[in-house]
Amino acid sequence: MSAATTRSRTPDRLCAEAVDLARAAAEEAAAPGVVGEHVGLVSEGDRVVTHFFECKELGYRGWRWAATVARASRAKIVTLDEVVLLPGPDAVLAPEWVPWSERLRPGDMGPGDLLPTDAEDLRLEPGYTGEDEPAPNSAVSHEMADLVEAEDAEVTAGPPADLATTPSRGSIAAVAEELGLRRARVLSRYGLHIAADRWEEAFGAKTPMAQAAPASCASCAFLVTVGGSLSQAFGVCANEFSPADGRVVSLAYGCGGHSEAAVMPTPPRPAPPVIDETRVDPFPLRPATDSGSVPAVADEDGAELGHS
Ligand code: SF4
Repeated sequence: MSAATTRSRTPDRLCAEAVDLARAAAEEAAAPGVVGEHVGLVSEGDRVVTHFFECKELGYRGWRWAATVARASRAKIVTLDEVVLLPGPDAVLAPEWVPWSERLRPGDMGPGDLLPTDAEDLRLEPGYTGEDEPAPNSAVSHEMADLVEAEDAEVTAGPPADLATTPSRGSIAAVAEELGLRRARVLSRYGLHIAADRWEEAFGAKTPMAQAAPASCASCAFLVTVGGSLSQAFGVCANEFSPADGRVVSLAYGCGGHSEAAVMPTPPRPAPPVIDETRVDPFPLRPATDSGSVPAVADEDGAELGHS
């Protein structure tokens, strides 16, 4: 028997000697020729011992066939308990399982995919939904309460799913919808921060493009401003030749396409022709025949006008 791995409990002698029984069981469970050397045993309890055999199967490096044998009290016969393939201390294992929601990366979502958000998602917080009592952390709760008093307007109660799709005209819900506020949840401060960090990293002041830019987006005509609190730091680039076209850019970002970076010189305009209408220039139609004659001139249709 090879050197045994034992726990503090001393293994039962008869069970520890039942290596052949354990090997036969492992070979029966495994494919032919893949059960290798006996590499150790452990005492699992009173008269219960597990024998380990090397697994020679490709792809299972470090794994071991484990055959557990047992013996009844005062019995001399050792019997098989179970056989299983187990990873050893140096086994090659698959990486630890990670839930899909943590595995997802930007760009993983394809057409038709749904990405549910957790009810406790830290990036979101309750928005204004048209309830009688606006959420206490809603940015519009006070304004809406004032409007209710001033206009005695109708406020639809109930969760978003119960709201009428088209709120009645003039109601608080209609006003809120027009302002883009009638959403069950809105971005929390944390959600805004992590979005801003991401955008700043991709199109921010520290990028090589911004460092080499002649000026920042803040002074560029191609910058489209955005609404909300992020407007103080971000906009959208609308220059099709910029690497940031259609992307949210930091106001401190910049690129060589900045509208004022290099204004194209206007090509010089030639001076308009000068027409002198005060003089008539003689234009000979045919060469003079004799030295004394005067060349004939023609009118616009080519008719000869005679000698001048
Ligand atoms: S063209 Fe360049 S400088 Fe102008 S907004 Fe776009 S990224 Fe900013």
